[in-house]
Amino acid sequence: MALQIAIDGPAASGKSTDARLLAARINGLYVNTGEMYRAVAGAAYNLGIDPTKNPQDLVKLLPKWTLEYRLDNEKNTLELFFNDKPVDHAFLRSKEVSDVVSPVAAIPEVRDWMLQKQRDCAKLPIIIMEGRDIQTVVLPNATYKFFITASPEERARRRLKQGDFKDGTSLEEVAKQIKMRDHLDSTRPIAPLKPAEDALLINTDNMTPDEVVDKMVEHMRANPRQ
Ligand code: C5P
Repeated sequence: MALQIAIDGPAASGKSTDARLLAARINGLYVNTGEMYRAVAGAAYNLGIDPTKNPQDLVKLLPKWTLEYRLDNEKNTLELFFNDKPVDHAFLRSKEVSDVVSPVAAIPEVRDWMLQKQRDCAKLPIIIMEGRDIQTVVLPNATYKFFITASPEERARRRLKQGDFKDGTSLEEVAKQIKMRDHLDSTRPIAPLKPAEDALLINTDNMTPDEVVDKMVEHMRANPRQ
């Protein structure tokens, strides 16, 4: 079986940075499933669809859309394509998309549509997949499972530092948005955010991304797969 590493955690916990860094360290391929949900949320936003009031307007478009990770052989990375075009990362991280992504991700048909696409990525030899339900739903038999957390204050600081917000956005506003998303993600009936029973929990509050990755690698070395 391919080596599958599942990384989950709440918004802005640092898991994307950690997952990308881990992929570079062990020469694996990184899949950001949050970005997959953001691609669909961005399309809904552009079409003016309200995912809470009119989820069916979005659901009926799904069969017409394609979403796939393609391998960039030169860089040895996976690049996300929506309807055959590379996604616009800055737009997908914008406040507009962040505001609608959790309601989009709570639509059962959207999650069904994603599941096989995400499992297909996991057929690649070494995969590091990051999201909310990877260790519990998408890859419940993943070789290693990590659940990354950080305090709400630290997460708000990190997200603000990433520069995805308009100038002048306060720490309080960022914290509020993160809290709202965490609430929606962890209380939804389907695939809520939670650690798997056999996950290693890492609180990254006083850790650099390199230290987090050191800890993951240490855990994998100490628990070689059978
Ligand atoms: O990781 P990121 O913050 O970019 O994820 C954006 C949103 O996508 C999350 O807040 C969540 O609503 C949704 N998501 C999900 N399941 C995943 C990954 C992301 O529901 N596996």
